[in-house]
Formats: sequence, structure tokens, C-alpha cells
Amino acid sequence: MEINTVMVTGGTGYIGSWVVKDLLENGYNVRLAARNKSNKSKFEHLLKIAEAGRGALDIWEADLLKEGSFDEAAKGCEAVMHIASPFTLRFKDPQKELIDPALKGTRNVLNAATKSGTVKKVVLTSSVAAVHGDAIDMQEQGLEEFTEDHWNQTSSLKHQPYSYSKTLAEKEAWKMHDAQDQWKLLVINPSFVIGPSLTKTSDSESINLMKDMLGGKYKTGMPELWFGFVDVRDVAKAHLLALEKDYAEGRHILAERTMSMLDYAGIIGEKYGDEFKLPKSKIPKWMVYMIGWMFGMKRTFVKRNVDYPIRLNSEKSKRELGLNYTSIEESAADMVEQMTAQNLI
Ligand code: NDP
Repeated sequence: MEINTVMVTGGTGYIGSWVVKDLLENGYNVRLAARNKSNKSKFEHLLKIAEAGRGALDIWEADLLKEGSFDEAAKGCEAVMHIASPFTLRFKDPQKELIDPALKGTRNVLNAATKSGTVKKVVLTSSVAAVHGDAIDMQEQGLEEFTEDHWNQTSSLKHQPYSYSKTLAEKEAWKMHDAQDQWKLLVINPSFVIGPSLTKTSDSESINLMKDMLGGKYKTGMPELWFGFVDVRDVAKAHLLALEKDYAEGRHILAERTMSMLDYAGIIGEKYGDEFKLPKSKIPKWMVYMIGWMFGMKRTFVKRNVDYPIRLNSEKSKRELGLNYTSIEESAADMVEQMTAQNLI
């Protein structure tokens, strides 16, 4: 299948910027569907990359919440990368700020793909949040690890709404995929993404958490919470591999490793010593119940997530996409270097 032009949503963001860079450097023409075309600060880094890239970059305007918004940009494209969705844990109204953009956005973007008549492949950025909800799910479901066969069954509008938004959006994408036969759907399910940022305007939790951690927010300790970790450049690479490999199918969990956030801080501490006010000790669970609000954690979240290790199986991404993972040590160091160089801490 020949692909020349790709419409990218969320290309101004943390992950999306690396995806756009890889596409341009590999000779694809990119139609960047930006939320606000006149806000150049969101994509000027991409215009610079495009000057040296082999492909051309065109800026279009579209909003996840506006029906039909992506129709024009998708016309004539052979592929769509749907990356846009709010990744924030700092919200007031989860329906408006998380669920609507995720779900309505997916409908709008995939409808545009169908209406184009030309789009043959859609790569969707889902998340491991659509694979599992709470860390305790692994134990409750009698699992040794989470794989692409599993779905988040425990998140809701009230409990872990971000994860719920990703689950609803991915399910909707598969439903829409099954109702047509024009385009193929490939899904990327990254775990927590780390590594250097190309954009200075992203409000992604990936960047906020690193700022908080290096800035000393957790210097008195951290609850034991487990995550998978993956480098942002590997996430972008996985999107490109999914686009290019004709035999790629289905969902792909991305994780170099699973470990606790405290162990992750330890990796940074090993390289940088006391340069940052990193957390060094674990806050016991009984205390997290009392002070969890300081970290924005509700009781149910604490109960079902603190002190429960998780395991994610990312073998499919290596086997079928051919992805080679960057070590977390390297990703973390590159992120620290980029953030210090740009005075972001
Ligand atoms: P960012 O916040 O950096 O990127 C979000 C992108 O979505 C931005 O380009 C943003 O545009 C766009 N967007 C948000 N709302 C709208 C809207 N209403 N209309 C049009 N565009 C909109 O986050 P990330 O790069 O971290 O996340 C990108 C994707 O990856 C999301 O789908 C997220 O769920 C997923 N993901 C992220 C992980 C992580 O650890 N970072 C892990 C797993 C999945 P604008 O620049 O205008 O704000």
C-alpha cells in the first residue's frame, strides 16, 4: 500500500511532535490538524524540522469537538494518525474535559477518514489505560501480566476518568473500524511516556510529573505506584512502524519496563546524585490514605493502586513491529538534560 500524505491529529503535543518529525524525515507529507492555526508557538518547532525534512508540512485547523472539522484535511490523504486527546489529571469536569474530546474526537477523526474515500490506514494512539484500570485489576482478574487481550473494566466517569476516556475512545475506534472496509486500524498502547520533548507548549502529564519530581514536590517521599515506562522516541517509532508494516495487526502495548515511580526516581538519582530534590523513601499506605489529597489521590484510588505491582507484556511490539527499546536510564537522562537546558525545572 503506497502512503504519501498523512493527516496527524495531536501533532503539536509531546508524542505527536516526535511522530511528525519521524514522518517528515522519512519523506511523508504531513497535514498537521492543529487546534488553532494562528497560534504559531504550538508548531513553529515543526516548521523548522520541516525545512530539513524530506516531506512537506501543511498546517490545517481542526478541533476534536467540532463535527466535520477534520473532513477537509483528511481528503486526499492515504493515512491518518489520530494522536490528539487530553492527557491531564488536573481537570474540573471530566465529561467535558476528557470524555467528550476523546470520544467525540475519535468519531470525528475516523468519520473524516471514511468520508475522504482515500484513507487506507489509521494509526490510533490509545494507551495501556485502555488495557487495565487499577493496579489491583491484575490480581482481581487472576492475571500474571496484562497483554493486548485485556481491556480496562474498572474505570468510570467518577473513578480514573482519563483511563475511562481512553477505553471508550479505543472501543469506539474498533467499532467504527468493523463497520467499514476502506481503512485498516492499528492501535498503539503506550505506557507512561518519558524522554526529551520537542515542544515547549505541551501540558502532558509526562512533562508535568518530571517537573514536579525534579522540582522537589515529592522530596519527603512517594507512594508506591507502579507503571510501565517507554521512551517518547520509541513511541513515535512504533507509530511509523505500524504505518509501514503491512502485516501489522491490532493493538500494541509499549513498555520498556514496569517499575515503581520511586524506582524511576532512583534511576535519576543514581546519575545525578543530589542535584535534584528527588523522592528517596516510600510513604506507607496508611499515611497515603491521610495525605493522598496533597497528590490529588482519592481514597478509592489509593486503595486500589498503592502497593500493587503491575506487569505489562510488550513482546508483541518487538516481535511484530520490530521495535527496539531505548533503556529507561537513557530516556530519563535525556529528559533531564533537555529540561535543565531549557530552564524548565
Ligand atoms: P499532549 O498534551 O502533549 O498532546 C495532546 C495533543 O492533543 C495536543 O496536540 C493537543 O493540541 C491535542 N488536543 C487536545 N485537545 C484537542 C482538541 N479539542 N482539538 C484538537 N486537538 C486537541 O499529550 P501527549 O503527547 O502526552 O499525549 C498524546 C496522546 O498520547 C494522547 O492521546 C494520550 O492519551 C496518549 N498517551 C500518552 C501517554 C503519556 O504518557 N504521555 C501514555 C499513553 C497514551 P494543543 O497543542 O492545541 O493543546
